[in-house]
Amino acid sequence: MRFEVLTLFPESMDRMLGESIIGRAREGGLITVQTTNIRDYTESRHRKVDDYPYGGGTGLVMGPQPIVDAWQATVDRLGFKPRTLYMSPQGKVLDQAMASRLRKEKCLIILCGHYEGVDERVLEEIVDEEVSIGDYVLTGGELPAMVLIDCVSRLVDGVLASESSYAEESHYAGLLEYPHYTRPAEYHGRTVPDILLSGHHAKVQKWRFLKMLERTRDKRPDMFDAYEKAHPEQVLEAFGLLPKKRRRHGKTAGEPSLQNGNPEMNGPVPADRKPEADS
Ligand code: SAM
Repeated sequence: MRFEVLTLFPESMDRMLGESIIGRAREGGLITVQTTNIRDYTESRHRKVDDYPYGGGTGLVMGPQPIVDAWQATVDRLGFKPRTLYMSPQGKVLDQAMASRLRKEKCLIILCGHYEGVDERVLEEIVDEEVSIGDYVLTGGELPAMVLIDCVSRLVDGVLASESSYAEESHYAGLLEYPHYTRPAEYHGRTVPDILLSGHHAKVQKWRFLKMLERTRDKRPDMFDAYEKAHPEQVLEAFGLLPKKRRRHGKTAGEPSLQNGNPEMNGPVPADRKPEADS
């Protein structure tokens, strides 16, 4: 997958997106992040990209000419017109469902604003969708763009070890993830739940699903309500509230697949296990 970022600060993006999983995904050719400096396209003699707002008021506005020209040069280089996003506090807030939808694009152009934002005609002319990363205002679109690129890239085949790496995580199935433990089995008198040391895969799965429900109910009641509405029987069954005759054995329909490719997760952690740098 390809991300084309239009920004006034390309260096900051390259630095941050060159490390860890995303950096390796770029090196391995799974994703491409190409930055274009909007300032390189200004027709101003003084390399200006912003100006005072018509009607007065504080702050400066990024003018349309350099942005639209940078965008057009990107489209011409690619030979097709990808979906164009503008990172903006006025956009729809990024969530896992949006990330899954954007993942289906082979390329995204991402416009980062600064100052008071961009001239409205830029939105009319080139932008397909405004995306926010939350209901607060940042100084520029670079951090939001990096958040979006990170979040979407994790869904690209091969970036993580397997689909289960993200399918079990918070938000993917409408629940928060279960709690994690690693060595030592006891720390400051706090022990790892016995079930995780039992080696009983099916019981571990049931326990994890119950924990997902419990912590979603406690931390995000809004998400829990939505999940319960969609999967009432699975919730009742997990909490042991489903009448016996309606209980089913094995994985229930709404229960997310908690298959983990790592067999160590299903039993005691072997003493020789080497922790990974990051995952
Ligand atoms: N004047 C704008 C408003 O009130 O809607 C805010 C402009 S903000 C200071 C400058 C740039 O930061 C925006 O053009 C946008 O690209 C980016 N930005 C700020 N907050 C953001 C957010 N929550 N999500 C996405 N982008 C954001």
